[in-house]
Amino acid sequence: MPDEPQLTVQGWAPSGARVATLRAREDAADGSDDGVLELTADPDLRAALPKAARRHLARQLGWTPRPTPPVPVRDIRLGPSLLPAPARAAFAALLGKEHVADDRATRLAHAGGRSYLDLQRRRAGDASDAPDAVLTPGGTEEVAAVLRACSELGVVAVPYGGGTSGVGGLAGTDVDDRPVVAVDLRRMNAVHAVDVPSSLVTVGPGMRGPALEAALAEHGLTLGHTPESWEFATLGGYAATRSAGQSSTGIGRFEDLVAGLTLATPTGTLELGRPPASAAGPDLLGLALGSEGTLGVITELRLRVRPRPRTTRYEGWSFRSWAAGLAALQRLARHDLLPDVVRLADPDETRATLLQAPRTRALRARLRARGRGAGCLLVVGWEGLPTLVRARRTAAGSVLRDGGATRLGGRMGRAWVRFRFAGPQLRDRLLDAGLLAETLETAAPWSALPAVYDAVREALETSLTRPGRRPLVLSSISHGYATGAALSVTVLADRDDELPLQQWLSAQRAATDAVLAAGGTLSHHFGVGVDHRPWLAQEIGPLGVDLLRAVKQQLDPQRVCNPGVLLPD
Ligand SMILES: Cc1cc2nc3c(=O)[nH]c(=O)nc-3n(C[C@H](O)[C@H](O)[C@H](O)COP(=O)(O)OP(=O)(O)OC[C@H]3O[C@@H](n4cnc5c(N)ncnc54)[C@H](O)[C@@H]3O)c2cc1C
Repeated sequence: MPDEPQLTVQGWAPSGARVATLRAREDAADGSDDGVLELTADPDLRAALPKAARRHLARQLGWTPRPTPPVPVRDIRLGPSLLPAPARAAFAALLGKEHVADDRATRLAHAGGRSYLDLQRRRAGDASDAPDAVLTPGGTEEVAAVLRACSELGVVAVPYGGGTSGVGGLAGTDVDDRPVVAVDLRRMNAVHAVDVPSSLVTVGPGMRGPALEAALAEHGLTLGHTPESWEFATLGGYAATRSAGQSSTGIGRFEDLVAGLTLATPTGTLELGRPPASAAGPDLLGLALGSEGTLGVITELRLRVRPRPRTTRYEGWSFRSWAAGLAALQRLARHDLLPDVVRLADPDETRATLLQAPRTRALRARLRARGRGAGCLLVVGWEGLPTLVRARRTAAGSVLRDGGATRLGGRMGRAWVRFRFAGPQLRDRLLDAGLLAETLETAAPWSALPAVYDAVREALETSLTRPGRRPLVLSSISHGYATGAALSVTVLADRDDELPLQQWLSAQRAATDAVLAAGGTLSHHFGVGVDHRPWLAQEIGPLGVDLLRAVKQQLDPQRVCNPGVLLPD
């Protein structure tokens, strides 16, 4: 298999993609023993967590730094493949035997996603969620044939894109314990058509963002969808999870960019969406978006693209308080002046960001001199035609200033651009040193946002505080809308080495209950997966769950399509 993910002791690293690494160093000139975690995309730098950084986090968290490396790959427990020989032969007949793999390395490389629970299980040597075999079909017809065969043979099919699910979306569990195949879409990764006058591109679901952007650049076009997992995730995965990217405030969520798609199901293939628009009954496209592989496999996408921006401007601003930052963003939203990129960090995340970002010592001193402490950092960005960028930036700037913000300038914006995909890579290093590290996300109307923010912080702090130990909860607004905003929450805590999974499961349960009670959504962009499915009925109501079950019954009567996720048992 070309472009096979290499299983590393930390998890995976797709070959061919730029693998962001990080370096941690001591900021000696700071005059303190505060560790400074410098994230960098330079692959030559060796990943490490130095003593000073450990001391800094140890003081914050009451954490005892200790090496807790993942078990070597050779020691990961993986039972024999349960795929019966006749089923294996049937898949080989459909796809060719080179596209059916059940060797240990391939199965391990497709075990689970990238949630803390997924990583922690694998690091402890548990790969019980690995599929029994991995199929790599080459097109819609082959996928449809595989799904029909799965229904006949009683084999569960889990679509596999980039493997970056943050909510256990690739769990492959089945109440009936049937064999499981991962349907890896990597071979379906081509651009099929570019319709320049209509600003539409037709692509395979296994394509990744960087490859699509390179192909579109030849036509002066861009998709512009850049989540933090951009280097690894696939276009089919974005559609299946209703992803949001860093510029989603401006260009919309991924679902806003999908003009149509092809969904292969066990009972037939659907062509959904009718560009430019249609009033022919309810829009069935919405059923496929966010379906997380439970209805079938997305085998082709028709995406809305736009001219590549002629200008981009990213810059930093500082607010005295979180409340002032929220009020200013709300005002921008009301006047339709939100920039394309909007990231407002709360005081804890601001402090962590300033410690991580290079060359911010002068900035920190400037903020201290103005009596702001760290304050709350806002990174904003505009992308598009120079005249429009200028006009929108000027108008937004005056709203921000009226809201009490101070402009920090382009350096902070450029630093954000440089490290925009590097931050999450830090997690493996933190796990290596005995920490729990995970990100949660939600969204709420502007009126409910302060309550959701307070509730999720309190729930995490209560659940993860133990005598002498407390978690560090870092929050930020990551996407803005006219009606509200998305909140991302990263939590760091000393790991309970005896019961690490239970420790996070109870914190996650408390945080999710708190978010829903305060008026937030179950998920703004990670989706439901295994992790959130017990709460789906609270979000969409029991009748809503029954409706989705009825749709699944119609398209997938044998329940072979990713039955372990989204819908509660
Ligand atoms: C470090 C990190 C940062 C992240 N940042 C963001 C972010 O900024 N924004 C964001 O939205 N998400 C983010 N995520 C979550 C994740 O990247 C998204 O959910 C992404 O959309 C998943 O794409 P994937 O190709 O990796 O899908 P996978 O993880 O392979 O699959 C996800 C789910 O979709 C299903 N699926 C995949 N492909 C198909 C298909 N073709 N047809 C039907 N079902 C399919 C799978 O069965 C699974 O249930 C992040 C994850 C990580 C690890």
